[in-house]
Amino acid sequence: MKRLAILGSTGSIGQSTLSIVEQFPERYAVAALAAGHNVDEAFAQAVRWRPKVISLATEELAGELALRLRQAGVAGIETVHGAKGTIACSTLPEADFVVSAIVGVAGLEATHAAILAGKPVGLANKECMVAAGEILTRAARERKTPILPIDSEHNAVHQCLRVGAHNEVKFIWLTASGGPFRQLPLDQFASITPEQALKHPTWVMGRRITIDSATMLNKGLEVIEACRLFDVTPQQVRVTIHPQSTVHSLVEYVDGSILAQISVTDMRLPILYALAWPERPKSTLTFDLAELRRLDFEQPDFERFPCLRLAFEAAEKGGAHCIALNAADEVAVGAFLEGRICFTGIPRTIEKVLAATAEAHPATIAEVLAADREARERARALLE
Ligand code: MG
Repeated sequence: MKRLAILGSTGSIGQSTLSIVEQFPERYAVAALAAGHNVDEAFAQAVRWRPKVISLATEELAGELALRLRQAGVAGIETVHGAKGTIACSTLPEADFVVSAIVGVAGLEATHAAILAGKPVGLANKECMVAAGEILTRAARERKTPILPIDSEHNAVHQCLRVGAHNEVKFIWLTASGGPFRQLPLDQFASITPEQALKHPTWVMGRRITIDSATMLNKGLEVIEACRLFDVTPQQVRVTIHPQSTVHSLVEYVDGSILAQISVTDMRLPILYALAWPERPKSTLTFDLAELRRLDFEQPDFERFPCLRLAFEAAEKGGAHCIALNAADEVAVGAFLEGRICFTGIPRTIEKVLAATAEAHPATIAEVLAADREARERARALLE
C-alpha cells in the first residue's frame, strides 16, 4: 500500500490522482492533501479521504476548514496552512509518495523538501524542474530517490528510455500539438485575441498553460525539463509538431531505432504510471489502434514560435536564464490575458528580460526564488 501526499489536490492533476486512488483502493491511500483556496472542495476531499493532514493557502481558510470539519463531526485531521503547511504535507513521515502538482514555483520548496526527506516524487509541475532542476535532480541522485514525470511527454520519454542505456540515446523527441495557430498567417499573429488563444485543439488545461501551448513556450519549458530529468544536452532534445497528439513523445537511439509511446490523451495514464512504477497495473484506459488513420510530424518554425527559440537559448545557458524564461512568460501571459499587450508582445517581453539577465547558477532554493522575483520585477517594469 502506497500512502500519498498530494500537493495541489483540488487542481485537475490532483483530482485525477484521487480518481486513481478510488479505482485502486488496494494499492493507494491518502496521507496528506495540500489544497489551495478552494475550501468547499478541500472539505469534500477531507471528508471523503480522511487524510492525516490537510493544508490550505492561508491561516483564515485553514481555520474555516477546521471549523467545518468540527461541525461535521470529523475528527483526527490536522489543518495547516501556507508554504509551511505544504511542506508539512510533503514531508509527512506517513507518506510514501508525493504527487507534486501545484502550478508555478509555489510548489518548489515543498517538492525539494520531499526529495530531501527521501520520498519518491511524481512531478506534474514543470516550473519546478525549469527553475530548480539542477538542484532537485542532484538532491534526488544523492538520496537515490526517483522523480517520475507526470507531464505526458516526459512520462512517454521515461517509458521509452526503459529499453536502452543512457549513452545509447541520440535524441529525445518531444511532440507538440502546435496549438491553434499552427497554420495562421504570420501577419495575423499580432492581432490574436485571448479568446482565440484560449482554445486548445486537443487538451483542456489551465489558462496560462493554454496560452503557453499557443506560443509553444510550454514546449520550450518541456525541453528544459527534459534536459534536467533525463540528463541530456539541449542539442539532444528535438521538438516535432504532431497535430494528432497520439504519440506522446519518442526516443531515438544511436542505432537508428525510434521508440514511441502511444495511448489515450488522458492524464490518468501518466499519473498511474508514476504512482505504480516500476510496475504496470491493469487499467481501463485503452487506445483503439483501429481508429488511428494517420500520424503527421512537422518541423516547428522558430519564426512562428519565437518562444521556442528563446527556450532553447535559455536551456544552453541554464540557471538564471531558465528561471527568467519561466518568470517573464508568466508575467507576460498575465498582461496578454488582461489585454495590456498583444500576442507577439509575449516573446518580445521574454526576450528583453533574458537579455537583461546575467548568467548565474543559483545553488539553493532561496537563490532560485530570489532570481524568480527579480525576473518578474524586470518583466513588470518593462510592461509599465
Ligand atoms: Mg506536456
